[in-house]
Amino acid sequence: MKRGLSLQAALAAYRADAELAPLPDQPDPDALLHAYHPDYLRGSMTKLTIGANAGADCQRELADLLQAEAFIDEADLAGAQVTDTDVLVVGGGGAGCAAALAAAERGARVLLATKLRLGDSNTVMAEGGIQAAIEPGDTAQQHMQDTLRSGHHAGDPALVAALVGDGPETIRWLIHQGMQFDQTPSGDLHTRKAGGTSAPRVVHCRDYTGLEMMRVLREAVKQHRGIEVWEQSPVVELLSNERGQKCVGAVLGSLADGSMRIVRTRSVILATGGLGRLHLNGFPTSNHIGATGDGLVLAYRMGAKLCELDSFQYHPTGLVHPAHLYGKLVTEGVRAAGALLLNAHGQRFVDELQPRDIVSAAIIRECREGRGIHNDNGVGVWLDTPRLERSQPGLLEREFPKLLTRTRHVGIDPRREPILVHPTLHYQNGGVVIDVDGATTVPGLYAAGEVAGGIHGRNRIMGNALLDIIGFGRRAGRAAAAAEHDRGPKKITLEHVNRARRELTLAGLPLEQRAPRVLPAYTAAGKDIWKS
Ligand SMILES: Cc1cc2nc3c(=O)[nH]c(=O)nc-3n(C[C@H](O)[C@H](O)[C@H](O)COP(=O)(O)OP(=O)(O)OC[C@H]3O[C@@H](n4cnc5c(N)ncnc54)[C@H](O)[C@@H]3O)c2cc1C
Repeated sequence: MKRGLSLQAALAAYRADAELAPLPDQPDPDALLHAYHPDYLRGSMTKLTIGANAGADCQRELADLLQAEAFIDEADLAGAQVTDTDVLVVGGGGAGCAAALAAAERGARVLLATKLRLGDSNTVMAEGGIQAAIEPGDTAQQHMQDTLRSGHHAGDPALVAALVGDGPETIRWLIHQGMQFDQTPSGDLHTRKAGGTSAPRVVHCRDYTGLEMMRVLREAVKQHRGIEVWEQSPVVELLSNERGQKCVGAVLGSLADGSMRIVRTRSVILATGGLGRLHLNGFPTSNHIGATGDGLVLAYRMGAKLCELDSFQYHPTGLVHPAHLYGKLVTEGVRAAGALLLNAHGQRFVDELQPRDIVSAAIIRECREGRGIHNDNGVGVWLDTPRLERSQPGLLEREFPKLLTRTRHVGIDPRREPILVHPTLHYQNGGVVIDVDGATTVPGLYAAGEVAGGIHGRNRIMGNALLDIIGFGRRAGRAAAAAEHDRGPKKITLEHVNRARRELTLAGLPLEQRAPRVLPAYTAAGKDIWKS
């Protein structure tokens, strides 16, 4: 990497009123992605050796976890307390809460188990908003085309049709739950246009949409008599029938006292979110501390098929400094409102509202080729917020209070000083293969939200994740509740774990690494879990 300008020198040269040269001709998008996007970094991919995706490309650090030993074996189950329920929902973010509510509304007894506290999740951190084709002149077809095109046509059209078709009803449902959205002076829902889309359709609550969403979902779950919530209770393994072919429950560890509990159930819904905290390719992340890809590991060991394991979203605008906020998100909403990206020489280098993968690749190119801005933490480019403030006075204060609060705490006023940004690991594009009801390829096992794949192809557009978690969360909840009861006593086994161990041994793969990871090893609790 060529060294760019120092932060001090770049700040001294920066002027919010400088005239900007026209955007230079843009390179072929595929060539740009192949040269600079982290998915194409040399050595970043490997082929899986065992499991339902054997032979497929997979990001190297994720492959190590998918092909790791289980945390537990039969001895750990002896004497463990057993709880019966109809539907076990794993994960207390948006998808988990939506699934739990839908299943309970169908009369199922629901147990929602979550790793940390209810609501500790990526959902609560979501900023920019949620997509739905609600504006006059916009259509579900346009929304579908935008989603497929931005995902490089790798998304499953049936899933995308379900996603966009659920849009307007999802917003109505959220409003019915009590969620507030920003409105225009005439009382309509206020919309923003996301990168890679053809129409404004992102509805939002300032720049803390996820906080507002999680507030109402959490309240609804807590108040529902049909839902029991277990906090600090990560699932460390699933349970299978005698042949290891059907999911019949899960083993939960307690973060409070280390004990193990068994939950026996007719359906399990994985809603465990993403994997940013694996810091793939050494990147910082925007994700919450529990985003360690556990659901992928659990589903894969159970025999479920996964997809797009070589495709991840690096959001273009993660903060570069101060150090403790490294990787934290600046919402795309700021670019949607008109903020430009400038390199160290004060030049624009990309259309800021191209799909995220293109914008990220262009930022990485500028940094590698010596047109980045360095400080002690790393390198980045300017997000030109003072120019935005000049053109629309008061906008930052009005629409992005979270950004202003966060930066002011560290002595930066984005209305006067541009923000130094660099791509941050943000989203898992692929995941567990599902159908439109959230059913995986393993009977009894459902998945919804970021852990599931096939919807966003190889690049997600802003606002489609929040739509996905509510739409598919509710779909999975309804289907899981309707699943047939097994007759007779249910045998719970770890047969799938034994099968995976045999495969690992036959393939000559090491048995030392254990997964799911549960918490990053750099947290105190994560270290302990890893040792035990
Ligand atoms: C900073 C940020 C901003 C974002 N902004 C937007 C936006 O504006 N619009 C948009 O559409 N998308 C946005 N996204 C993406 C979106 O928020 C997420 O993709 C989505 O909320 C994921 O929801 P989820 O329910 O699938 O996962 P999460 O909300 O992450 O919930 C997963 C839950 O599962 C729990 N869990 C994990 N492993 C286990 C286990 N082993 N056992 C038990 N529980 C477990 C976690 O603790 C957590 O409670 C943003 C993401 C981030 C990080």
